[in-house]
Amino acid sequence: MSEKDEGIYVHRSGIKVPYQWHAGEYATRFYTEIKDNKKIWGTKCPDCAKVFIPPKKTCIECFKQCYEWVELSDTGTLLTYTVVHYGEPLIQPKEPPIAYGIIKLDGADTGFVHMLGEVDFDKIRVGMRVKAVFNENPEGNYLDIKYFKPVG
Ligand SMILES: [Zn+2]
Repeated sequence: MSEKDEGIYVHRSGIKVPYQWHAGEYATRFYTEIKDNKKIWGTKCPDCAKVFIPPKKTCIECFKQCYEWVELSDTGTLLTYTVVHYGEPLIQPKEPPIAYGIIKLDGADTGFVHMLGEVDFDKIRVGMRVKAVFNENPEGNYLDIKYFKPVG
């Protein structure tokens, strides 16, 4: 579609670019454990002992290779959150409003971004305890965890 904008014609359009990529060794194991076993695993740095979720092959602090896998709890603490009220179907996994949080799973040293569910958005609080709710029909991706819900 063309339209005149400030004296010049502007053509507004969009392109759809389907793509795929290899998730890599660590992401493949991470997603497989969630899909097949409903278990969340991170990796641990042999030098500084930080546990990363999602798992990292290289420590972002000391650049050592993280070969050790650590099973994490499916519960954690909400570090921060936001509620999104606008729709962007190419990016967002569901219709807004959507609450996104950064969750520090028990046993991990880093935050894990995911949606919050089964919660009144007005009652979300930093520091609240949350638990993963797994998708009944896992497909081997990030949404095999449906969301995190409040516990306790
Ligand atoms: Zn390290």
